[in-house]
Amino acid sequence: MRNWNWKQTAAVVGLAMVASISAGTMSAAAQQAAGTPAAAPSSTATVTQTPATAAAPDATQTAPPSDQTGGAASQQGPGQAQASQTIAPPPPTVAPTTMDQVVNLFIQREHGLIKVLSARTPVVETYLQNLTNDPQLGPVPSEDHYFLGRLDMGETVDRKDYLKEENQSMQSRLLGGFHKLYKVEYQPTGFSWMVYADRTDFDREHYDFAYIRREFLGDVRCLVFDVKPKAKSGRGRFLGRIWVEDQDFNIVRLNGTYSQAARNTFFFHMDSWRLNLIPGYWVPAFIYSEEGDFSAGVKNKLAFKAQTRIWGYDLKKGGKDDELTNIRVDSVQDSSASAQDASPLQAEREWQQQAEDNVVERLTAAGLLAPEGDVDHILQTVVNNLEVTNNIDLPRPVRTRVLLTAPLETFSVGNTIVISRGLIDVLPDEASLAAVLSHELAHIVLGHNLGSKYAFNDRMLFSDDSTYSNLGFKHIPEEETAADKKAIELLKNSPYAQKLDNVGLFLKALQARTPQLSALLTTHLGNTLAENGTVTRLTALESQGPALDNTKLDQIAALPLGGRIKINPWDDKAEMVKTAPVAITSARDKMPFEVTPFYPRLARFGTGAPAAAPTTAAANGNTGN
Ligand SMILES: [Zn+2]
Repeated sequence: MRNWNWKQTAAVVGLAMVASISAGTMSAAAQQAAGTPAAAPSSTATVTQTPATAAAPDATQTAPPSDQTGGAASQQGPGQAQASQTIAPPPPTVAPTTMDQVVNLFIQREHGLIKVLSARTPVVETYLQNLTNDPQLGPVPSEDHYFLGRLDMGETVDRKDYLKEENQSMQSRLLGGFHKLYKVEYQPTGFSWMVYADRTDFDREHYDFAYIRREFLGDVRCLVFDVKPKAKSGRGRFLGRIWVEDQDFNIVRLNGTYSQAARNTFFFHMDSWRLNLIPGYWVPAFIYSEEGDFSAGVKNKLAFKAQTRIWGYDLKKGGKDDELTNIRVDSVQDSSASAQDASPLQAEREWQQQAEDNVVERLTAAGLLAPEGDVDHILQTVVNNLEVTNNIDLPRPVRTRVLLTAPLETFSVGNTIVISRGLIDVLPDEASLAAVLSHELAHIVLGHNLGSKYAFNDRMLFSDDSTYSNLGFKHIPEEETAADKKAIELLKNSPYAQKLDNVGLFLKALQARTPQLSALLTTHLGNTLAENGTVTRLTALESQGPALDNTKLDQIAALPLGGRIKINPWDDKAEMVKTAPVAITSARDKMPFEVTPFYPRLARFGTGAPAAAPTTAAANGNTGN
């Protein structure tokens, strides 16, 4: 039983969650018969990674835009003054009767999307694994690279890097030794190109479009076109295939590369997916890139897989002009029950609460922390299981939040435990989740509070892209050792006591890949899980449990990235992935800590509810379905 089942206190919070968690578990996958209906029929043989579908976003985008309707509509509360602007859906399309008209429509829609997103500065994360061939496991990571920044989608393509130290040598770090062979177009401009088919010249003068067929992507019926640049149309033109949804004729997927690279330059192949997160528009969300032939025996100079994720579209622009307006200092509440004065201890706790609230708000505003949501209920249930069985009674409740990034890390500030999306993704079961959370709970129980300096609000005044140099929650080695010791004590009293073999197995799997995954294991806010190629977290459990054995198909020690958490790229909300189990048929299917292609299940905004833009008649007329 490796499912994340609830033990004791979960009944009320978690019933709905149990189903989704169980569905996403690898052990369930391993036990399933091979003929299980898969969520995405054309999905490759990968296991359970369907990183995202359009989660029905909440209503924040549905109000009519006040800036286009004159004064009458701008009656939102004064507190909303800094809230994000809403985006009006495009005007309804006139029903096309020919494929030529369809081409005109999606060209027009693409230009509309570029315009609408030009004021946005979403977060862009790229995680890349260089590959080497393993006789048993096939292509496995040999080293990895990580990039995180804000993408300015306006005219001038810019990308502010959160990771300053990598900024200067980004290109050389990206491909290790390969930069001598190729000038890699994977720089800021390259990003914008992979987001759109063609930022500047997506039109009939530069491209030929050939209709291929109709096809469903998820719930969405699409028209498929091949796109070829015309002769002499210039360098860096898109060459490949696009999928166009058949109601409003937005491009929902691009698959291909860019042609006619200049001498000694090189464009990646990419598969770029969009989600219908606001009425009338499909916004770029996932880009999978891959190069090289991974077949055995092929000697490759350039072989990698990379996942690029885009989120934080609704974040306020992180520019200099408004960085002060990002700071909200209204979180301090007088929570004393009566009019009594605060005792010194109460004052100390108020102070810590203030620091904690400041940090959580600041990280959320920077697009690094998901707003409180369903995943937190799951995490809090696990924490609660640890607390109840250990008779831990803290003056303030422990909260949890999801860090939106891939590197494997946890940290705590005040009574808030933060765990990264990437770490939740790769954990094989609830006991392993409990183990990584128990370390942070131990810090809290032991009073290892580091954050109190952030109660001074001036310390929150920095630009988003310097978040990592202004915030940090690393404990000294003595506190790390003490927290690990306490964590194991907590686990042994908990419902997870009988499952610690699984935790040992996870730590062994982590150790096996640690030397190759230094970027995934480089933390940016908290302590690292490994140092100098050796796992340092919860090492007392590492010897526990069976030996790591790749040939045992039912031994799932760690999962690929992307299998558990999906992020809504518009509002940053995190939720559990709902995947149908897929059978593991060989050791190569396990892919611990690895990058895989994206195959989001596409759905229209509001899933079922009519989108704001009316459905055109053409779609129905054309398809005959
Ligand atoms: Zn720690």
